[in-house]
Amino acid sequence: MVELTSDCQNCAALCCVGLALDKGEMFAFDKPAGVACKHLKGHKCGMHTKLESTGLKGCVQYHCDGAGQRVVQEVFAGQSWQDNPALLHPMLEAFAQMRQVHGLLALLHTAKALPLPKAQLAELVGLEAQLSPELWTPETLAAFERSEVPKTVRAFFRGLKAIL
Ligand code: SF4
Repeated sequence: MVELTSDCQNCAALCCVGLALDKGEMFAFDKPAGVACKHLKGHKCGMHTKLESTGLKGCVQYHCDGAGQRVVQEVFAGQSWQDNPALLHPMLEAFAQMRQVHGLLALLHTAKALPLPKAQLAELVGLEAQLSPELWTPETLAAFERSEVPKTVRAFFRGLKAIL
């Protein structure tokens, strides 16, 4: 079973670097995507205990569906962009792709709990398998992004709406 819960201890703060923050109700300041947040200390947030009180509740609410730690531990074998800056771009690219994979897996996981007809359940299991290769690599993630798989999963959900 793929882990769909964020495990920040085994990540390398990919969300704190890779994602853009837009100043507003959820974030107290702007930060462009691909730039480390000013509060990042190593792989940890220097504001961790004060996020809500300092206008950063978006950081508390954000979950990567387990994509971050998988990119670090599985795709990059535990390496970090902080030790090897050349890894920053490929790790962030893989993080964006893995977020898609895990986002779709999380939706399929939720749908599996519904009373689905046999044919749709079989289709769902097939889609889960396509999203769950033995090992993700930068190459297989890039191939996934170019493939028809994301569109096929979205089409599956549109089809479910019609029968549920
Ligand atoms: S405030 Fe903390 S949790 Fe939010 S992006 Fe910056 S380092 Fe990450």
